Amino acid sequence: MRTPIIAGNWKLHMNPAQTAEFVKNVKDKLPDSNKVESVIAAPAVDLDALIKASEGSNLSVAAENCYFEDEGAFTGETSPKVLKEMGVKYCIIGHSERRDYFHETDEDINKKAKAIFRNGLLPIICCGESLETREAGKEEEFVVAQIKKALDGLTSEQVSSLVIAYEPIWAIGTGKTATSDQAEEMCKTIRESIAKLYNEETAENVRIQYGGSVKPANVKELMAKPNIDGGLVGGASLEVESFLSLVNYQ
Ligand code: PGA
Repeated sequence: MRTPIIAGNWKLHMNPAQTAEFVKNVKDKLPDSNKVESVIAAPAVDLDALIKASEGSNLSVAAENCYFEDEGAFTGETSPKVLKEMGVKYCIIGHSERRDYFHETDEDINKKAKAIFRNGLLPIICCGESLETREAGKEEEFVVAQIKKALDGLTSEQVSSLVIAYEPIWAIGTGKTATSDQAEEMCKTIRESIAKLYNEETAENVRIQYGGSVKPANVKELMAKPNIDGGLVGGASLEVESFLSLVNYQ
């Protein structure tokens, strides 16, 4: 059985003091981590505060990005090796904002996935189509190609343990959620593609989140779908009450 995973993606919001305050207000109200895994992904500069504040709680910590080299002359980058040393568990890669604004390619994302595993972290790999691609009816082909390139060279054991986040770009930060049927359909397609690339068991193990305007009002309906195992949540993860209702959706 796959443990549901609800992750807040804080993007470039919050500072260390706000992070500590937020965690203080949620840490005793989180669900049991074998029922629902609660995760917060924070900017690199807040991770130390996030880790310290969440000690002894059911909160898992994620980075929002990292580099694919562990160390060296790479000014401004974040080392996956150091993220592991700090106590980070997950790292988001391939978010559409990183693909768009920072020109990250599928090849970069694949290198990052390998670096993340090499250092004992787990990737949350984002994928998702633009409105243009959906209107052209090419969304499945597009997303399956993104997944195939991101996973290239990973073992079935690695793929079993990672998380995929399906985030249609047209639903991110727009208030426009994909319908639960549209989200389910794509998550099912992703799972089937993993069964083809690997095997049924790997496909059954991998956790697939939906992301794009997830909020307390729609989380239940999305989570009721058989192939949706979680949510990656931007805007609605920034308020204590809203984050708590998301992780406690059951
Ligand atoms: P949103 O963002 O929930 O604000 O739409 C989701 C994301 O970008 O991960």
